[in-house]
Amino acid sequence: MMKTKRITIDMTLPLEEQLAEAGQLLKDGQLVAFPTETVYGLGANGLDEMAAKKIYTAKGRPSDNPLILHIAEKDDIIPLTEEVPMNARVLIDAFWPGPLTLVVKRSAIVPRLTAGGLDTVAVRMPDADIARALIRMAGVPIAAPSANLSGRPSPTTAKTVAEDMDGRIAMIVDGGACHIGVESTIVDCTSPVPTVLRPGGITVEMLTDVLGAVEIDKGLTDESVKPKAPGMKYRHYAPEAETILFEGETERKRDGLIKAAMDAVCMKKCVGALVSRELAERLPADVITVSYGDKAELASLLYDTLRGFDEKGADVIYLEGVDESDIGLAVMNRLRKASGNRIVTA
Ligand code: AMP
Ligand code: MG
Repeated sequence: MMKTKRITIDMTLPLEEQLAEAGQLLKDGQLVAFPTETVYGLGANGLDEMAAKKIYTAKGRPSDNPLILHIAEKDDIIPLTEEVPMNARVLIDAFWPGPLTLVVKRSAIVPRLTAGGLDTVAVRMPDADIARALIRMAGVPIAAPSANLSGRPSPTTAKTVAEDMDGRIAMIVDGGACHIGVESTIVDCTSPVPTVLRPGGITVEMLTDVLGAVEIDKGLTDESVKPKAPGMKYRHYAPEAETILFEGETERKRDGLIKAAMDAVCMKKCVGALVSRELAERLPADVITVSYGDKAELASLLYDTLRGFDEKGADVIYLEGVDESDIGLAVMNRLRKASGNRIVTA
């Protein structure tokens, strides 16, 4: 097992000095986990096939699931692609740096393994200062999937990165909690109408405002259609405990969740519930309850809460669904996956 070094960033001091060693490790082909505004990434030199390979091994990630390349400047996308289409330019101007990943045609400098064997490549310029400073120090595009073991909830703190990655990677850069909490939106810019392959921090409403029209990949909602982002077909974000999502009309959905929680408590089960503040007040005291005020708060605490329920020994986890407007689409996508599609619709 490798010794994983952990450093904690002080945002009041210059980042370059603090990130020099991390940048050097990346240059040397090692793995370094670091915070972005969405979730923690597991970084490696994205142009070095051997380094990218280490990511797949450390995560236990299937090799057909491509990596997103993270860059520090908008123009750094140019050498990675044959062409930056007009739609992509519009999106870059509107949303970079930020939680938006663009899929474009791959240039020859991007290794096949980084791109999961596809002829396209996914590129993002993160907003978090630590992420961009680290990419600059490394001097290369950084391939960085979420820093969790494949299938587990993504990490939004250095502590949860360590749970999965301690002993597997060279360094964890602790920069505090990630404020968005769900992954970037992925938009395929190679199709005539840009297509959302994964909902995320930049909402469909925001994309439609600047583009006029976007499509949503049918594979996201229709089980019989293969998703265009290879990673979306895998089981994901799954806690160890049995997890059930309650959807549908507000009152009926809440009544259903309360009844399920009461029954489980009667059966002496340890119950975790992630619900709105309104519903939290109505649950039995024995339920480990985490509540949120709005959908953005739910996004930011979602993954940590799922991991926390496992840590506390929950036998079952009940999740309250939210409406799918704005960040709700990304949140519901993650909740459905976390539940392994065990959904009760009221
Ligand atoms: P992660 O970084 O762990 O959040 O996962 C990255 C996601 O981006 C996965 O769902 C991948 O399948 C998807 N992805 C990466 N590159 C491409 C690409 N070239 N085309 C479509 N999806 C991609
Ligand atoms: Mg991931």
